Amino acid sequence: MKCFDTHIHSEGRSIEDLTAMSNEGIKAAITCAFYPIKPMYQETLIDLFRKLIDFESYRGKKAGMEIYAAVGIHPRCIPPSYNKVLDAMESIDSVAFGEIGLEEVTKEEVEVFEGQLKLAKKIDKPCIIHTPRKNKLDVTMKILEILEKIGFPESLAIVDHVSVETVEIVVKRGYIAGLTVQPEKLKSDEVVLIVENYGFENFVLNSDTGFSESDMFAVVKTADILAKKFNKKDVEKIAWSNGMKFFGINL
Ligand SMILES: [Zn+2]
Repeated sequence: MKCFDTHIHSEGRSIEDLTAMSNEGIKAAITCAFYPIKPMYQETLIDLFRKLIDFESYRGKKAGMEIYAAVGIHPRCIPPSYNKVLDAMESIDSVAFGEIGLEEVTKEEVEVFEGQLKLAKKIDKPCIIHTPRKNKLDVTMKILEILEKIGFPESLAIVDHVSVETVEIVVKRGYIAGLTVQPEKLKSDEVVLIVENYGFENFVLNSDTGFSESDMFAVVKTADILAKKFNKKDVEKIAWSNGMKFFGINL
């Protein structure tokens, strides 16, 4: 089945890996901004964004995959100041902001997250919002509280890496939930349970594959498992078209 992996870090994968993903059916992906060490300069992130937009889309094409860039300040890589990063995010040609969000809910993280959300709201930019592994429920609640405080449009937010525990509060409030299938995140059988309970409309699939060891075929494998149990048209929604619609991509 043709698949759209809505959250990867393509820089962490070789061209051979990307080609293998494409051969398995992953024909489109969003590559999210993340810098593996805390940047010393805000310009580091600006060059990272340029790299994602120009070079990663080029590598994707060579591999037979359309790669679209999301740009933003991940809570684990906040530079000492970020006004120029916000300016770049506003002017650069990205399909989304991401990944942004909260990790440890420090004052600095909240300020940076709110700044990016306000900008996204102003320019109608879809956002990929990271939720952490630790204290996932509490931090997800905090994220939802911030989204509501800002009056952030539900249609512009993917709350990503939901768990069996957090999925309900996310979809009940009208946001899209990102189902990240990986050994330490969601398992395919948990995705089966989730769609059995909540349907196919409010979800996108992704692998978050990139810098760390991970299953780069997770989205295809999950789509195949779902296709054996459910209507293929429904599976196609979470494997492809929901994401395309959310990011405003015609492919
Ligand atoms: Zn990620």
